[in-house]
Amino acid sequence: MSAAPALTTLATPATAAKLARIGLRTLDDLALHLPLRYEDETRLTAIADLRPGVPAQIEARVVEASVQYRPRRQLVARVRDASGELALRFLNFYGSQLKQLAPGVCLRIFGEPRGGFLGDEMVHPRYRLVGAGETLAQAMTPVYPATAGLSQLALRKCIGLALEQADLSETLPEPLRKQLKLAPFADSVRLLHHPTPDIALADLVDRAHPAWRRIKFDELLAQQISLRRAHEARRAKTAPPLPARGALTKKLLAALPFQLTAAQRRVWGEIGRDLGQPYPMQRLLQGDVGSGKTIVAALAMLQAVENGYQATLMAPTEILAEQHWRKLSQWLAPLGLEIGWFSGSLKKREKAAMAEAVACGRLPLAIGTHALIEETVDFHCLGLAIIDEQHRFGVRQRLTLREKGANPHQLMMSATPIPRTLAMSYYADLDVSVIDALPPGRKPVLTKLVAEARRDEVIARIRDACAQGRQAYWVCPLIEETGAGGGGQKLQLQAATDTFERLRAALPELNIGLVHGRLKADEKARVMDGFVAGDIQLLVATTVIEVGVDVPNASLMVIECAERFGLSQLHQLRGRVGRGADDSVCILLYAAPLGEAARARLKIIYESADGFEIAREDLRLRGPGEFLGSRQSGVPLLRFADLEADADLLDAARETAERMLRAFPDAAERHVARWLGSRRELLKV
Ligand code: ADP
Ligand code: MG
Repeated sequence: MSAAPALTTLATPATAAKLARIGLRTLDDLALHLPLRYEDETRLTAIADLRPGVPAQIEARVVEASVQYRPRRQLVARVRDASGELALRFLNFYGSQLKQLAPGVCLRIFGEPRGGFLGDEMVHPRYRLVGAGETLAQAMTPVYPATAGLSQLALRKCIGLALEQADLSETLPEPLRKQLKLAPFADSVRLLHHPTPDIALADLVDRAHPAWRRIKFDELLAQQISLRRAHEARRAKTAPPLPARGALTKKLLAALPFQLTAAQRRVWGEIGRDLGQPYPMQRLLQGDVGSGKTIVAALAMLQAVENGYQATLMAPTEILAEQHWRKLSQWLAPLGLEIGWFSGSLKKREKAAMAEAVACGRLPLAIGTHALIEETVDFHCLGLAIIDEQHRFGVRQRLTLREKGANPHQLMMSATPIPRTLAMSYYADLDVSVIDALPPGRKPVLTKLVAEARRDEVIARIRDACAQGRQAYWVCPLIEETGAGGGGQKLQLQAATDTFERLRAALPELNIGLVHGRLKADEKARVMDGFVAGDIQLLVATTVIEVGVDVPNASLMVIECAERFGLSQLHQLRGRVGRGADDSVCILLYAAPLGEAARARLKIIYESADGFEIAREDLRLRGPGEFLGSRQSGVPLLRFADLEADADLLDAARETAERMLRAFPDAAERHVARWLGSRRELLKV
């Protein structure tokens, strides 16, 4: 199954390395690297028949070519066929191209025509010199997803060779294939790489062609088979059963100043049931910002403690971890429970003492940052590991926390709502609970888009709000990391300090605090405490406050250079306000003029308050990689099928997976190897 070296039979090591960069490591990977679209070079279009925006191939002779200097240096060639004339424009070109395009030379040109300033033109068309009567392509020309340094031509060549060498035999047992009325696999793959001219391009492009259906089915089938296997493998593991005993959870519920919402009760039911099973829970708890995930986590932790086991909760930032620690301490102290605290800023001696108390089991609970997964931390009997804002952690870190116990139950929480279907396409085996309603009494946050030029009005607004006893956040502009030297962080800090000083000068009557990632932990805690207590009225902050921070009296937020933030990030930030009884406002300051894309994004955040909808849009605009965070996104398990649009195929695949595992286990194995062979490691998390 070590198919990786196989690619050296068709590519140089350098090319193989580039292929690997886009996840192509085996012959099967190449065979399944299907075109994004096609170009029709099977026919010629007369220049007179060209339509703007419709890519086409023409054959024409060069009339003249020259380098022009206005508006910028460019190579312009005029070509003509029997029907008319067209300009070809190249903004990047080699000197040799001018010589090549000598008058009278015959070219075959492929490109997208558009109406230019001086008549019709193609910008950067592909072209090559042809002799008279040279034959046309017999099949559509595939255009593949590529990467820098890997040309379409090179990809086509490698894939062509792979199609000859790869094993394209059926993995789907014939009776099942017939019953499902699916096209044969090998034919489908070949057809999608090289469709003949008689096939309607529209069917290929919208992936409705039977060949696409077969590919999508196979992909879903591989996912379903591996999902089932991972699920079974998990059930074969032994975890401590932690059934609901109610001794502690009931007490906590009775002491809370609020009632759980129906949505919270439902997910708590799901989690509580999972904990009682003798195999490890692996569940993702999703809920929009402010939906109340923390209390559910606290209940789950108590259920572990009721059963004599330990539980731990890890959060990505010190501010958030500490807030959890305080909140839970406040909830659980009346029950006689003490919570261990782990953070990077603890003194060595304190950390050792905490670690000792957790290792001997004296402390049933521990909360902290990454400090929890240090080697020195060991649990006596860890029954439940919870990770808050799980998308902020890498796969490795999640595994390390889990390994602090013997197959403990695992709960991951996220307020960046990954659409369920996306979660399913990234995680091989994961149950999902969703809190789909906010606690009662929340008022929607009014969002305003304000141009940077009106900054003074915004400052006046803060003055008014604070004069009325409210509090406000001012979020500093996000500065992209530039280079490896961490220059971005330094600039970020600079921007935050500048903003802080300017606001201090503009609002001398206010007590203003500043928090950023570089602040020492005790400094950070002092500022946050001041803000929570209401002594600090305006908190200037970097995105360190993005997750979790909960100060109900803060009802105004200003986000500077909002256009630089991701949508989900803006939504998270905005979620810091609207937590109390007052009407809340979030002002998105932007630097005019806004680009088209930035305008579209801000419009979404302005119009929608629904985290899931925003996440979907974010996903649409930015793609899943960036959305999930590069550290963990990896390669999606699904590239072709769409769990929503192809729901019928998904049902069929689910059923078929079960039948194959039962009646044709070898075929099932072969099928998964074909589709996920080089991505096995993904299935383990
Ligand atoms: P998130 O899901 O974003 O982590 P939190 O757990 O921080 O949300 O909850 C946000 C706020 O809502 C907290 O102040 C919390 O105490 C409060 N809260 C949680 N559940 C309820 C409820 N059922 N009724 C009223 N307030 C609640
Ligand atoms: Mg939270």
